[in-house]
Amino acid sequence: EQQPQDGINSFISTDVSNPELEFPKCLAQEDAISLAKTSSNLQPSLQSIAVKDNIATVGSRTTCGSGILREYRSPFEAGVVRSLRLHGSLVCGKTNMDEFGMGSHSTHSFFGPVSNAWPLDKLSVGGSSGGSAAAVASGQCSVALGTDTGGSVRLPAAYTGIVGFKPSYGAISRWGVIPYANSMDTVGILASDVSSIKKAFWRIRRHDPRDPTSVADKAWDRLASGQENSFRRRKKAGMRLAPALDMFGIRIGVPLEYNIAELDSGIRQAWRNCLDMFQDRGATIVSISLPNTRHALSTYYVLAPAEAASNLSKYDGVRYGTRDGSADGSDGSLYSRTRGKGFGEEVKRRILLGSYTLSSEAVDNYFLKAQKVRRLVQQDFDRVFATPSGLRPPEQFDLKDLDESIPMSSKLGPTQVDFIVCPTAPTLPPTLDAVSKQTPVDTYMNDVFTVPASLAGIPAISIPFTLPEAFHSQGKPAFAGMQIIGQYASDNTLINIANIMM
Ligand code: GLN
Repeated sequence: EQQPQDGINSFISTDVSNPELEFPKCLAQEDAISLAKTSSNLQPSLQSIAVKDNIATVGSRTTCGSGILREYRSPFEAGVVRSLRLHGSLVCGKTNMDEFGMGSHSTHSFFGPVSNAWPLDKLSVGGSSGGSAAAVASGQCSVALGTDTGGSVRLPAAYTGIVGFKPSYGAISRWGVIPYANSMDTVGILASDVSSIKKAFWRIRRHDPRDPTSVADKAWDRLASGQENSFRRRKKAGMRLAPALDMFGIRIGVPLEYNIAELDSGIRQAWRNCLDMFQDRGATIVSISLPNTRHALSTYYVLAPAEAASNLSKYDGVRYGTRDGSADGSDGSLYSRTRGKGFGEEVKRRILLGSYTLSSEAVDNYFLKAQKVRRLVQQDFDRVFATPSGLRPPEQFDLKDLDESIPMSSKLGPTQVDFIVCPTAPTLPPTLDAVSKQTPVDTYMNDVFTVPASLAGIPAISIPFTLPEAFHSQGKPAFAGMQIIGQYASDNTLINIANIMM
């Protein structure tokens, strides 16, 4: 195991080379076209970014925090890293993470745990993008890329007091991002302020033909402007009525199901204060119901391991992965030795879980059921958002549906909202000591508020919100992560709202 280079162990590699990119020789044709479209009003700026170690970079290792990929060097670079480099960013290092993204505290890494340099207690930085969060929180870089499959950008942001943004599924290219659970994997952005996130998102939101789930530019423009227009229309009407209140006319939903008994009292109070702040600015607060939320966590922990088990089968020491040296192949143990030594405990647990739920005896009862519940979770969100996502098949899609005055048959309840506001995590960051005593299921509980948006593929941002005075204590952070969740493709508006609130 390596020695931490910064005392926090936020980086796995810092020896990243930054090849001089020659414009336009280095560009694939589609890169050049799309850069030309976006770069007219962008000055290239030198900005150092940290990149989570499951995102491929040339000139350094890409390990996924795993022993099995400890030596892996990708022959190509992820689309998202390339976009950032083309806009002048320098990669300052590859960040530590829970192995293959599986975990919530960045303790499941082959390279040792990430630890928060908080003065008294060693607190969890959250996971799995904990290295990226710690690198930003400790001032080692201004922006970091993470990945968020079930909360891995938002939870670390909440625990370290920074901003973490998970975009709509398909908004940012996953080409060159090593998959954990493909149907939920997104690249997310961490920074200490919202405007850095806005800039970075602007630079990396573009179609990538190499990622089949990347949304085409035309479709994205249609979906995103549908969201922006309907929002802007209502805000304009609000501005006429109450020009001094910048959120007049905006409706914020508070999901009743998120007020769970396990919610830390400080976080509950911060949630109230956050809603008061929205209200003071003129927003209307309405309670909403997302009844299938209570099944979201178990659904996620069936689907994510199933996809992972399938994805990780290629690490066998032949196709991918560092081969176990003692296995010569003569006794048929090459795969099992390589995998037995290369994967950590948590990854093995997930592979077993996933292999079971996909097995013929269990698939109907677990995997297929979970897929159905996933759809219900998605419909819960669709029902409460004022603007439809516009994701229906083209023949059913009619632009005038974007007008909120036309009721949609799928919208059952009377109350419809622009955004949902809830805590990012039910508790403040636990100490690493407390984490080591948690059972795997205890750890999974941290993700209860983040997985619903992942299952639905919708955007969410976690911003730090100051805890009420009574909850400040030495050795504990004075902030709680608050999450704002929006309809599919409302990413720009969501970022703008977060900017106003911070
Ligand atoms: N903690 C969750 C898990 O272990 C989420 C991880 C992620 O978003 N990559 O699966």
